[in-house]
Amino acid sequence: MLAIIAVGGAVGFRSLLEGLGQFYYLPMVPAVLITAMLARRIATGLAIVLSIAVNLTLVPRESLTDALTNALLFAAVSWILAEVCWAMRAMQDRTRDLSRQLAAKDVMLNTALASVPVVTLNAEGEVRHLSPAASTLFGLNEAAAVGRPFSELASGFDVAAILGSGATGGALEARDGHWTGLRPDGATFPLSIQFGVASDPIGDTHVALCLTDLSRWHAADAQARELHAQLNKVWRLNSLGEMAATLAHELNQPLSAAATYLHASQVDMEKAGALGGSALRTVELAKGQLLRAGKIIRRMRELLSPEARRLDSERASSMVEDLGPILTMIGSSKGVAIRMEVEAGNDRVRAERIQFQQAMVNLVRNAVEAVGEHAAPEVVVVGRPTSDTHYRISVEDNGPGIAEDQIERIFQPLTTTKTGGMGLGLSVTRTIVESHGGRLQVSRSALGGAAFSFTLNRESSVENA
Ligand code: ADP
Repeated sequence: MLAIIAVGGAVGFRSLLEGLGQFYYLPMVPAVLITAMLARRIATGLAIVLSIAVNLTLVPRESLTDALTNALLFAAVSWILAEVCWAMRAMQDRTRDLSRQLAAKDVMLNTALASVPVVTLNAEGEVRHLSPAASTLFGLNEAAAVGRPFSELASGFDVAAILGSGATGGALEARDGHWTGLRPDGATFPLSIQFGVASDPIGDTHVALCLTDLSRWHAADAQARELHAQLNKVWRLNSLGEMAATLAHELNQPLSAAATYLHASQVDMEKAGALGGSALRTVELAKGQLLRAGKIIRRMRELLSPEARRLDSERASSMVEDLGPILTMIGSSKGVAIRMEVEAGNDRVRAERIQFQQAMVNLVRNAVEAVGEHAAPEVVVVGRPTSDTHYRISVEDNGPGIAEDQIERIFQPLTTTKTGGMGLGLSVTRTIVESHGGRLQVSRSALGGAAFSFTLNRESSVENA
């Protein structure tokens, strides 16, 4: 259709020029070019054929050879022009595509640079560019940083070490584990650096540094270390207390029995008269020592038994969350990923934070040790309110579980099935749970192994609100 309209238009135009002379094929050229620009090859071919047919019909020729030569010449020239037209159109399309791709890359790069601290340097180690995120990190605008040696922003940095190594990229090792970033106000912060080296077509060397602020990571690490140290201390005291209570309990009976026997001997000796006098005094001394031993043990128990717990208002989810790095460490030692399903709603409870955390560590460690041999080990910590007054915590696993007839035994101090186990974990945990007004229970988990659970008292619903 386009070919017919274009050729028709050209014929009309040609008839307007009629009075000025004979124009043959010239007015048809724009018709073919317009068709080539707007349509494809078939339409263009049709425009050429139509143009030739119109010319042969309208313009009388001297000979057939003349008519054919002009027609062929017109067809060849028109087709070449059409090819040029198509090539230009393809080039235009490609340019448009490329600029679209470039614009998209530009947006991506700018977005990345806005959020990632990146610094580029020249071969002398001087700052060339500072991304907005790097600007924020150093508290320095780009204009103030450009031209300064990067070693003024990161202590000990040496660009020669990078270029001398011949490496084109990777992590830049720091002497003491991390780099130290320096801010204009004298503040410092830990930093990790990834580098990339590239040369541009002119031969200039560019060093790009991608920086990561480690402050938060360091703070979290320090916090986890501190909690770990506290838990170790609490564990030592708790297990000593448990041992003292066990010793006092176990020794009380034989000591009392010995005292009773000595008393009975004394009665017999009194009957023996003067002969027994000396032995009576010795037995009295022995009795005194026995009573002293009893007092020492009682005193030790009093010293090590926990004072009345000071229960504070705490959020169960936050107490468990803080343990995250420690529980992860316990799990990863046996290749076990610990799942947390602790509900953060209505989780304000009365608890002594560090003691509660100690109980959780004990239960999770036991669960991890129980699933150690399992092909697909599972340990899950679940927490949810069960009523207006209680919040239940449980630690479940898919280990072998606990046989019915062993349930009472495992809570007794010094009972263990592990080589190197102390058998104090569960008894310490039970003491902690009971001092919170709860009861440590064990049952079979839906996962197939053991489920240890206990409840904490919730803050009143008014306080929760
Ligand atoms: P220890 O861990 O030193 O043995 P515990 O008092 O913590 O001391 O545990 C006592 C015993 O209870 C363990 O030796 C183990 O046999 C059993 N036990 C504890 N937790 C689990 C569990 N999650 N699955 C199976 N058995 C368990």
